[in-house]
Amino acid sequence: MNPLRLLGLLLLLITTAVAQNPTPSPTPPLLKPDERLKVDVLLVVAHPDDETGVVPYLVQLIDQHKHVAVVYTTHGEAGHNNMGPERAQSLGSVREMELRHALASVGIDNVWFLSGRDTPSQNVLESLANWRQGAVEEELVRTVRLTRPEVIITWMPGFFVGENHGDHQAAGVLATEAFDSAGNPTVFPAQLAGPVKVNETLLDGLQPWQTKKLYYFPDSADDIFKGTGPTYQTNGMAKALKIPYWRAGFETFKYHLTQYRTFIERMKAMDENQVAGQEKNWGGEGSFVFGKSLVPGNVTGDVFEGITPKPIAFVPVGREPYPQPGAISVELSGPWGFYEKFRRAHGITKLPQAKEPEIAIKRGATLLVPLELHNHTDAAKNVTIAVKLPEGWTTESGAGGLTLDPQGDYYWQVTLDAPKAETKERQEIECTASADGKTLATIKISVQLRNGGLPQN
Ligand SMILES: [Zn+2]
Repeated sequence: MNPLRLLGLLLLLITTAVAQNPTPSPTPPLLKPDERLKVDVLLVVAHPDDETGVVPYLVQLIDQHKHVAVVYTTHGEAGHNNMGPERAQSLGSVREMELRHALASVGIDNVWFLSGRDTPSQNVLESLANWRQGAVEEELVRTVRLTRPEVIITWMPGFFVGENHGDHQAAGVLATEAFDSAGNPTVFPAQLAGPVKVNETLLDGLQPWQTKKLYYFPDSADDIFKGTGPTYQTNGMAKALKIPYWRAGFETFKYHLTQYRTFIERMKAMDENQVAGQEKNWGGEGSFVFGKSLVPGNVTGDVFEGITPKPIAFVPVGREPYPQPGAISVELSGPWGFYEKFRRAHGITKLPQAKEPEIAIKRGATLLVPLELHNHTDAAKNVTIAVKLPEGWTTESGAGGLTLDPQGDYYWQVTLDAPKAETKERQEIECTASADGKTLATIKISVQLRNGGLPQN
């Protein structure tokens, strides 16, 4: 048919339809939240490859017909690239692609990426600053409200000797915040406003969501985490994949070529017997650390113990009071000080803790000891900071006398240089603050010196 004649016919049809049916558009259908997004477990991690240790557990959940999703708070774009010249944001895009392929290979295609920036240090506060914490927190709360998880599993928010990546800690911090706030109808209320236009661009139309349980996994192999949560075995056979569960972690890891090309080429060159022998490295018992639960159950009980399909109402977090500081106080600040307050603010003071503040740094590196000093009296006060160090250490700055103004609040830093020599044992550094002939505080930090690893800041 002549195209002009077709157009004329269409116009005639439309005009006739409008003339015959002048009533307004019909009532739109009543839509419920999108069921395709609903999950049982939401894993919240920082970088592509962070999922590796938890993949065997997620595959077990899929075999039980549970739904899982994984959130990455960064794209892991700050690393090296073993595959090509792509760096920075382009490397982030490549790593996102590697990760999506990895998880799709074991049946996980529900993957979300947030806008945090990969920040290579041990300092969680630097990660939160570089991510613009509020922005990523809003994105994560939105993701929780979209996916409505029964359980959130995430990195342990704490400062421990281990890899101790600041981004891992920050993922755990924001996941804990999201657990406590996604059900709160006053938090990010624009997400909870119903759309007012057909093509709405501002109001999300979501509902508050209270997740029932929160579990952590640490970035450290310390014994203090043993027995603090549920365990699971990884030697069973995955029903859909027909490989042992531990091997699902082994197989997904092979996709992270920009990070581990040489290692992965060795993995790929293994014959079946050699792969089977890898169970000693990749298998064994998996475990989580119990964070908090709003349903009945035990600390070491199954992750889904006490969980029923019925949603639960928002439960405001039970904050625990902060200890009141003395008239003059000197405290450890930085990430160590932050976590003291964070645990209380989120009702997780029972989480495993190091006996005393600890850190691992490179041999010969500088250790910064961040302090907060408060003088809540109406008189100026002289405070003396004395440092006691193991052999080989030196004080660069920060020891000596300080005068605190009346009602004065200060940050201060003691800078120490670690020895280059090899030491196997942990070392203890000690800062003592005193005023008016009395000791205000004795701050001890247990330090492990190692050959490399992430910088303190
Ligand atoms: Zn990571």
